[in-house]
Amino acid sequence: MRPQALTPLFAHVTSLPGIGPRLGALVEKLAGPLVVDLLWHLPSAVIDRRNAPDVAQARGGEVATLTVNVDEHIVPHSHRQPYKVWCSDESGRICLTYFNGREDYLKKLLPPGETRVVSGKVEIYQGEVQMTHPDHVVPLAERPSILRVEPVYGLTGGLTQKPVQKATAAAAERAPALPEWQDAAYHRKQGWTDWKTAVARAHAPTEPGDLSPAHPARARLAFDELLASQLAIALVRHHNRTLAGHATRGDGRLRQAALASLGFELTASQTRAIAEIADDLGKEERMVRLLQGDVGSGKTLVALLAMLICVEAGAQAAMMAPTELLARQHFATIAPLAEAAGVRIALLTGRDGQRAKKQTLQGLADGTIQLVVGTHALVQEDVEFADLALAVVDEQHRFGVHQRMALSSKGHAVDLLVMTATPIPRTLMLAAYGDLDVSKLTEKPKGRQPIDTRTIPLERLGEVAQGIGRQIAAGARVYWVCPLIEESEEIDLANVQERFRLLSDRFPGKVGLLHGRLKGAEREATMAAFSDGRLSILVATTVIEVGVDVPAATVMVIEHAERFGLAQLHQLRGRVGRGSAKSTCLLLYAQPLGETAKARLAIMRETEDGFRIAEEDLKLRGAGELLGTRQSGLPDMRLADLAIHNELLEAARDDARLVIARDPDLQSERGQALRALLYLFRRDDAVRTLRAG
Ligand code: ADP
Ligand code: MG
Repeated sequence: MRPQALTPLFAHVTSLPGIGPRLGALVEKLAGPLVVDLLWHLPSAVIDRRNAPDVAQARGGEVATLTVNVDEHIVPHSHRQPYKVWCSDESGRICLTYFNGREDYLKKLLPPGETRVVSGKVEIYQGEVQMTHPDHVVPLAERPSILRVEPVYGLTGGLTQKPVQKATAAAAERAPALPEWQDAAYHRKQGWTDWKTAVARAHAPTEPGDLSPAHPARARLAFDELLASQLAIALVRHHNRTLAGHATRGDGRLRQAALASLGFELTASQTRAIAEIADDLGKEERMVRLLQGDVGSGKTLVALLAMLICVEAGAQAAMMAPTELLARQHFATIAPLAEAAGVRIALLTGRDGQRAKKQTLQGLADGTIQLVVGTHALVQEDVEFADLALAVVDEQHRFGVHQRMALSSKGHAVDLLVMTATPIPRTLMLAAYGDLDVSKLTEKPKGRQPIDTRTIPLERLGEVAQGIGRQIAAGARVYWVCPLIEESEEIDLANVQERFRLLSDRFPGKVGLLHGRLKGAEREATMAAFSDGRLSILVATTVIEVGVDVPAATVMVIEHAERFGLAQLHQLRGRVGRGSAKSTCLLLYAQPLGETAKARLAIMRETEDGFRIAEEDLKLRGAGELLGTRQSGLPDMRLADLAIHNELLEAARDDARLVIARDPDLQSERGQALRALLYLFRRDDAVRTLRAG
């Protein structure tokens, strides 16, 4: 149950004074539907109206609050001319200027012969002191109400400052005093105030410095948000872990057999990753581990060895890939090794024939099939396992959290290994997943040569094609990628088909075409022909971005490289340089290049290090966009800025870890206070994992 004290904050914004249905709809669009949402809508600037000079001393460009006599209204003859109100004090005169001013309204606001206090930005125009549309005009008696520092809020169309200021002030007023949920020692060390005071201060800046993310009021609120998020993630994970996992230990027999049939040695990081996973699997707790590694670093093999541990222990394992193509690819890599070890493995996709599918389902249900690779067909209702111990999910950012969960739910306390080729910067990783266990593959397999990456203007396409001709005459295999823009699939398709025709004319019988509209069987046939060398050039859309593995391919041509993001370019380039031969990547771009595109191409020329590329991508694009907040599960932060509140994030992670260790059900006094924090940030899902009390 949400604590009673929070109830006023969870009322609709229209419950605030002065916010009716019309303003309410706008405020909802701006900040969110509830009063608590307005609390998190912090000022973006301040205006200091305490500057109150004589008219003659007012300087152009500064905000001033002036006390003046109203002298004369000059009503314009035409609409194009401004309405002018001349005012003065003992030192000089000032002209208040209104465009489209209404006479009746302005005469009431500024009655000739009376004194008014006006506040706004001063301009000096042709030697005259002027103020266009003053922000405030009030009688002398109300002077103190505007002679202050005013918070300025971000707005949305149709809203003005005043109602938003009033609404946020009223919301801040409603903030109740709450028991402190922060660790006492940490709170003392930071020198922060209590939560209610911090809210009030954050909404009442007195100088521009108060808007800094490092300001104590803002920092405290940012920490609270991070703590709520880290604690919520940790609680859910703790809850899942303690749902009685089982220890899975193997004797190494099948792994040895599979390794013996490999033509190469494991890299040091592959060996380490497998050891980490084996260790996790051997514990009673459930595993949730991320296997992170650049394209071509050998994640699939690590996953297979992890799966074999389960088979050694008499259980089953499943691997889910985001696309049919990728599932088949994984199956092709894994199946021979598994079979060499005497393990039965099946492929399950949406395209299997009825009979084959029935056999696979039967084998999984009775346990005679030990490993399965598939698409999301794996999570369908009719799929049952005799004893699923491990779920491997590849390229996780393409799956929703639900699909991941669905596969885990096919067994009892299933261990989870998530593989991703997107090297996620540490900060984002922590924010998105909390204290997640990570294995990293940091080196490429031995014998790989650096990829020679070049950028070439599209005008030189003819030369490029000539060069390609020489390469394929010498036996090279070439990917030729055309971009895909979702809004115009038809045009894109036409583009690849056009390129396919042109290259086919030039190199008859040597060119294949691959795109998302092709039937599975067609695609497969084309891939096979390219893979075994009957085709030399594969013209494709980005369907080949993920996972396609033809080690003999050594040339990657990317047309309109300027239209791709860094991560995507890196993924595409990773399709070559997978064998021991030297590879080339040609990035063809249309001129003129924008600044960002130029920067991206330069980084591509400079480095092949996926982690470095991810960091640069973060700089170029910003956190939210990099991962896509929704898909990544990256929490939507309103108070914390991940690029700045790094240390607070680490502290929140540490604190959440301690809380879970000491008081996992949030029963203590501090625990109760933390429950309120979770509700405040709408992490009810996490509170629900707690035992009653
Ligand atoms: P990822 O999934 O990380 O992109 P893969 O697992 O598809 O990488 O591996 C890429 C290629 O490298 C595959 O052809 C695989 O067989 C090969 N490979 C994997 N590990 C090694 C290794 N230790 N030494 C040499 N080649 C390897
Ligand atoms: Mg892969």
